Amino acid sequence: MISPLALELSAGLGVTAGLGLAAGGFAYASLWPASQLFGPSLIAPPRPGELALTFDDGPNPLWTPRLLDLLSRRGVRATFFLVGSRAQSHPALVRQILAAGHCIGNHSWSHRNLALAPSSTIEDQLSRTNQTLAEITGAPPRFFRPPYGARRPATLAIARRLGLTPVLWNAMTSDWKNPSADAIALRLIHKIDRLYRLGQAANIVLHDGSHSHPSADRAPSVAAAAQLIARYQPTHQFVTLDAWA
Ligand SMILES: [Zn+2]
Repeated sequence: MISPLALELSAGLGVTAGLGLAAGGFAYASLWPASQLFGPSLIAPPRPGELALTFDDGPNPLWTPRLLDLLSRRGVRATFFLVGSRAQSHPALVRQILAAGHCIGNHSWSHRNLALAPSSTIEDQLSRTNQTLAEITGAPPRFFRPPYGARRPATLAIARRLGLTPVLWNAMTSDWKNPSADAIALRLIHKIDRLYRLGQAANIVLHDGSHSHPSADRAPSVAAAAQLIARYQPTHQFVTLDAWA
């Protein structure tokens, strides 16, 4: 089932194929973060008590600096999955993230759905971002998180060929829909505590930017990060993804 559909997708029939796939296992594996069907991706190791805060869709000149302030005050290091085009627009902010000791990852050039894009587009989205981040920081990133978690075998194969380790997650809530900080933090706490009981580290996704609305309010996400740090810093260890790969 996977091969013909993958060919159909790469032939550019994304919309039609997407509708046909909606009820199938391919779509499930394309988007479900824990699926390893399309090749291994880094999620989290069996190290209960370790937490990786990861922030997607930046850099954002409104919210990333506030987040950096918070992390600096609390002595926490995190991982930022940057959109390449945004990094090109805000290179000083990218350097600031790196100078503070955080880890930087590739989140594609323009936040395309890379399960539906042809291979040439995937390659362009990832290599252009790698190149831009390398020009800004002096080194290419090690990690790649597919936008929406959307992937197909070629997405991950191309990422690996470009020297990127694909990364998904195991603790996310819809913080981009702008619920309250309390609601975001409570949902994540529930997931983090469950992972702890299962003997797993937590790979937590929050958003310090928006791929579609750069001025979107991310105050609740930043405040939720502050709540998570206050709650877990006494008992858990915050790590960057470098600690797991
Ligand atoms: Zn994203």
